[in-house]
Amino acid sequence: MRYVIALLAVFLAGPVLAEEQIPARYLNFDGLKADSRPMDISKIKLECTRLAKKHGVDPRTVLGKYQWGCNVMANGVCHIRYHDKPFWDNGQFITVWSTLRHELAHCAGWPADHPLD
Ligand SMILES: [Zn+2]
Repeated sequence: MRYVIALLAVFLAGPVLAEEQIPARYLNFDGLKADSRPMDISKIKLECTRLAKKHGVDPRTVLGKYQWGCNVMANGVCHIRYHDKPFWDNGQFITVWSTLRHELAHCAGWPADHPLD
């Protein structure tokens, strides 16, 4: 029984603990002004398109491949829209924080093609 619980713990904790690799220099958010708004994931595409147009940016450059969140840096403020609940995608547990962290990293200078160094 103890073995089964240990195995279960590995299965349940494994994906949750997997954190996206973002170079450390883009994870310093000190002094970053952010206007971040969590919302239902069904609204992300529309709200990100709206956000992009409001700031004169091409929506296609704002929305990533997955459309879980987006960011626009405008007038020194990092505007972010992201999902308000965690969910599973392809066996990976996507937390609200992992998406917010991803978008904040972009505002901190992480290029859109997600380099690992
Ligand atoms: Zn990204």
